[in-house]
Amino acid sequence: MLWSQAFIPTLREAPADAEILSHKLLLRAGLIRKLAGGVYTFLPLGLRALRKVEQIIREEMDRAGALELLMPALQPPEIWQQTGRYETAGNVLFKLKDSGNREWVLSPTAEEVITTIAANEINSYRQLPKNFYQISVKFRDEIRPRFGLMRAKEFIMKDAYSFDTTDDGAMASYKKMYDAYARIFARCGLKAFPVEADTGVIGGKFSHEFMVPAETGENEVVYCEACGYAANIEKATSGIPKTAAREAGAAIEKFATPGIVTIEALSKAPYSVPANRQIKTLVYMADSKPVIILIRGDDQLNEAKLAGIIGTTVFRPATPEECVATLGAKPGSLGAVAATLKGGTGFQPVNPEHRLEACATLAIYADERLRGANDMTTGANEDGFHFKIVSIERDIKVTEWFDLRTVTAGEPCAKCGKPLKIRRAIEVGHVFKLGTEYSEKLGATFLDEAGTRKPAVMGCYGIGVTRTMQAVIEQCNDKDGIIWPLSVAPYTVCITPLGVAPESAVMKLAEKIYVELTARGVDVILDDRDERPGVKFKDSELVGFPIRVGIGEKSLAKGEVELKPRVGALQAVKADEAVDAVIKLLG
Ligand code: ATP
Ligand code: MG
Repeated sequence: MLWSQAFIPTLREAPADAEILSHKLLLRAGLIRKLAGGVYTFLPLGLRALRKVEQIIREEMDRAGALELLMPALQPPEIWQQTGRYETAGNVLFKLKDSGNREWVLSPTAEEVITTIAANEINSYRQLPKNFYQISVKFRDEIRPRFGLMRAKEFIMKDAYSFDTTDDGAMASYKKMYDAYARIFARCGLKAFPVEADTGVIGGKFSHEFMVPAETGENEVVYCEACGYAANIEKATSGIPKTAAREAGAAIEKFATPGIVTIEALSKAPYSVPANRQIKTLVYMADSKPVIILIRGDDQLNEAKLAGIIGTTVFRPATPEECVATLGAKPGSLGAVAATLKGGTGFQPVNPEHRLEACATLAIYADERLRGANDMTTGANEDGFHFKIVSIERDIKVTEWFDLRTVTAGEPCAKCGKPLKIRRAIEVGHVFKLGTEYSEKLGATFLDEAGTRKPAVMGCYGIGVTRTMQAVIEQCNDKDGIIWPLSVAPYTVCITPLGVAPESAVMKLAEKIYVELTARGVDVILDDRDERPGVKFKDSELVGFPIRVGIGEKSLAKGEVELKPRVGALQAVKADEAVDAVIKLLG
């Protein structure tokens, strides 16, 4: 490719709305352009890098025995209703209507479609196992699209789906994908590592995410350097001790706390109740029903864990009015002491008429760390009052106990006791063991050897292709621009003649090297623009071509050209050995 014929609109400055370095570099290097928030055009150079990432993925999927197909992005809502995800994934699902007023959804992922294919086409154990994949555009109505390709409304994903006859078979398929992912990211030049992950609303047994460490990553990973434990903070647990039991009075006591509505305020004089002796009561609205969450005063609720428990991401903290309607008090005075809910043991509810009905169906989920806790303090469900000497199992009717808290750095590792660390990372891939949930709901069954009909055991495996490409840039750059790994660089070599007079010795040699390298299968771009050397060097460094071949009159007078790896020292080589020297550098 001749630079003069190419389309590489580099920018000195990134547009102001580009927040993170990789996003700025994507724009400055002329790889992408924004059409609208979360929607981008891939310009020719960006597309070349993207295609290389795709090709690596394709090769490794094929190598692992997965079969490529292509499913439609436009999907009927019925199959989404059948799995229940029409509602549970409702917040990211793009819904639209055609001219006949028929509803459609735009695919954010494709479990529903592939499982329908399996339901219709697979009938016998002889046809299994199978693993299907596609590389296609996905749509998600992300509330906050940001960071360029990292969180887009329209993006490219590789998604694969495995169908097995047994659980062991499904495990083997999972392992194959897990190993393929490790190879894919390594081949893309990424340092990515697997972590235990939350299965979220997709359901299923267990999963791993592949994470690229980066300060700008939207995920937090909890990890232990001593034993190798690593998990997304949405899922991570620690070996933190339960709340210590204390000598305490026999009965719960109500006391006045006028104006005290925070854990912190109650921890100060004159009350001086440490946060770790307080029960925080939170009200969430899920499907317009309230859910009460109890968590220790010094802990934070982990909303991802809550989503997994209630089976949907469509929930939100209750408004103060909804808290009053549910528990009779505003946030700051809430509590779940049974006496206040049922009105039975001496404490009269403030507004019994609007509360008792709700209470009969109230789900109270408490964090495991509170199990057995006594001598605790919590809101009295009456503005301006709290209870002390609360013994959680005596005084509160907990519906169910869960791990609901968010791990913090320094807590002991559950496996080895050493302090846990936390770092930020970008999720580039996700492997799930799904089990039979989708195959049961959509009828993807097969007859086993004994003639018994069984649901196929599934797995699903995603890679954010466009996000991976940007993650490479986020990880591989310096002050001058992108440092593309050889495997995914839009062009691997940039030939930079310092003068471009036609028929000059410099230009003739540049063209000769260009032709020879191209003939040897190298992706080369020849910067034939009539620009100052400084401009050419800057552009080539910004775009990040792995190797630059500089040809100037001065060095050519000595019969030499200059090889400059994007990172590494400039080396002079004999002009007639330049091609071999480049090939050697490419390894
Ligand atoms: P996230 O937690 O970042 O929203 P997710 O858990 O919703 O991701 P999956 O449903 O597992 O993601 O999708 C598979 C892969 O697709 C992810 O690992 C990620 O790399 C990519 N991906 C997901 N959402 C987006 C998005 N909005 N823009 C770009 N890539 C995305
Ligand atoms: Mg998401």
